[in-house]
Amino acid sequence: MKTEEFHVLTAELEKLTPHQRSILVDRLHKIEHVQAVSMLVESRVQSKPLCPKCGHDHIARWGSASGLQCYRCAGCHATFNALTGTPLARLRHKDKWLEFAQQMAEGASVRNSAKICEVHRNTTFLWRHRFLALPNAQKAQSLTGIAEADETYFLESFKGQKKDMPRKPHKRGSKASKRGLSDEQIPVLICRDRTGSTSDFVLKRADKTHISAALKPLLANDAVLCTDSGQALGAAAREIGITHRPINLANYLGWRRMIEPAHGALSPCAVLFAVLGMGRVQQLTVT
Ligand SMILES: [Zn+2]
Repeated sequence: MKTEEFHVLTAELEKLTPHQRSILVDRLHKIEHVQAVSMLVESRVQSKPLCPKCGHDHIARWGSASGLQCYRCAGCHATFNALTGTPLARLRHKDKWLEFAQQMAEGASVRNSAKICEVHRNTTFLWRHRFLALPNAQKAQSLTGIAEADETYFLESFKGQKKDMPRKPHKRGSKASKRGLSDEQIPVLICRDRTGSTSDFVLKRADKTHISAALKPLLANDAVLCTDSGQALGAAAREIGITHRPINLANYLGWRRMIEPAHGALSPCAVLFAVLGMGRVQQLTVT
């Protein structure tokens, strides 16, 4: 906007009613969020200017659409933008993505993040799946050297799941119907080596057979598996012929703190980067 026009605009601001002022503030926030997301997303192409279809590196700017720069590949003539080929392609409401990323970092439910982002819960349900598509696929395929493993349990609540419900939903606020570990507690095995490569598995049962099946293809033959000496993990290590060592409790707790959902500690930008495959975020999975 030209300086003159801007002066005219700002002179008019005093005439606004309080209601109009708050509408204007909302509009400005929305514009700011869209631009922040667009800049973050555009940096994906700038850091790796390749055609997502054929991998050609000769690409040219080709107009813009939906607030994003478009590009055209000189090799295959495909047009694309920074989101083409990512899980976020063609998703709407870019102005809400950072807020949603923040909600994910804080571990908010689909329902609560929908309320805060002011979108329908079907939208946040879809976003959850899209946002987790890459982090879920980016699990380490092999661990070497000293690897630490731990099992943890989630109470499966099947929130937002409409089809294929394995059982009737719980009433609000209900607890697992059986005391202790039951079929409603989903065992999750998390394994990490000293290079920071991490993998996790949702297990049918946390017994020797299932743990061995998960760890065998993951661990190198000379890996040393450190655990908090859980019996099933030790037995699994023996079964697949890997050295097993119980680990120091203080180190172990520090490690757990690091890999468990980093409630609020992850910036929304870090979450978006991981979603777009531009960085690593451990344990994005939330309930
Ligand atoms: Zn191409």
